[in-house]
Amino acid sequence: MSIPLLDLKAQYLTIKDDIDQAIQRVLDSSKFVLGPEMRAFEEEMAAYCGVKEAVAVGNGTDALLLALRGFDVGPGDEVITTPFTFFASAETIAALGATPVFVDIDPVTLNMDLDQLESKITPRTKAIIPVHIFGQMVDVERVMEIAARHDLKVLEDSAQAIGANYRGRKAASIGHAGTFSFFPTKNLGAYGDAGMIVTDDEALAAHLRMLRFHGCQTKYYHDEIGYNSRMDELQAAILRVKFKHIDEWNAARREKAQIYNELLAGLPLTLPGIDPEGTPVFHLYVLRTEKREELMAALKEQGIGTAIYYPVPLHLQRAFRDLGYNEGDLPVAEKACSQAMALPCFPELTLEQQKEIVSVIKKVLK
Ligand SMILES: *Cc1c(COP(=O)(O)O)cnc(C)c1O
Repeated sequence: MSIPLLDLKAQYLTIKDDIDQAIQRVLDSSKFVLGPEMRAFEEEMAAYCGVKEAVAVGNGTDALLLALRGFDVGPGDEVITTPFTFFASAETIAALGATPVFVDIDPVTLNMDLDQLESKITPRTKAIIPVHIFGQMVDVERVMEIAARHDLKVLEDSAQAIGANYRGRKAASIGHAGTFSFFPTKNLGAYGDAGMIVTDDEALAAHLRMLRFHGCQTKYYHDEIGYNSRMDELQAAILRVKFKHIDEWNAARREKAQIYNELLAGLPLTLPGIDPEGTPVFHLYVLRTEKREELMAALKEQGIGTAIYYPVPLHLQRAFRDLGYNEGDLPVAEKACSQAMALPCFPELTLEQQKEIVSVIKKVLK
């Protein structure tokens, strides 16, 4: 029995009629960009997150980029983030001419280590990007307290964390703004690229709506240099169908994670460390082991999909070599990158499949 890391086809089949109708609805309307589906989805997402504004854009990377532009981040500024994340969290800082500054991670949650955060703040720091890695939230209220002391902006990279919460507050709703990615493999995935920024700041939202449309408020009158980055109507219509299921799907992911925790207990593995104040959404179920290569090979032999998140911490990426970091600078992140691997953990995964995965793991570790 082969088990993929993620089974998007299985998910499509559970909602096929609704998806097919939504796509047909867009084709019949022949409105494809900046239309009613996008606007309706913006309203639905703002309500879900409990914030005033949502601005739909082309992808999660552009969501970060535009939000940072909205914070006026540019050359000479520093932005603090984590080295244990997808490249885009820091790429967007550098793309605006600012300097990413990396703070090491907490060895339990693998999120930004807030005890070290304040020591990275300098007079040039402009913003902080906490990333809710694998769908588990950072304590953003604490980040906001630190940010307030230094007059900094906070942007929650919630690409992996839609629906997660911390002390009852939703991901992306606590910082000055928060971003989502709807890349197909995310918990709420489009059938192409899509992203969103949410915020309570109406002036920021208005600025972001201009930035996504060539810096323009009235067509053909451009007030500043912007971007071409909108969520298209097909993606918005598809996402609105899938959005109705997100809480149920996230709950199913939590259930699968709990089953792994029980089945894998007692083995020489580091299971995902959960902050009891939060409710994660397990975008990925990532364990850590010194036997990663053996485990991945054995699982692969049985047709079971796994993946490494992340093989290289961002401070040691070639693209950031000019920042001057060396091996050993951020030891917790470096160690996590040498040990972390993700197991299949998606809503349609069956108990039988989980038992099979665990039996292969047990054979290797016994
Ligand atoms: C996926 C992801 C992004 C980028 O989103 P795209 O839609 O692929 O551009 C940014 N940050 C994190 C943490 C991600 O996982």
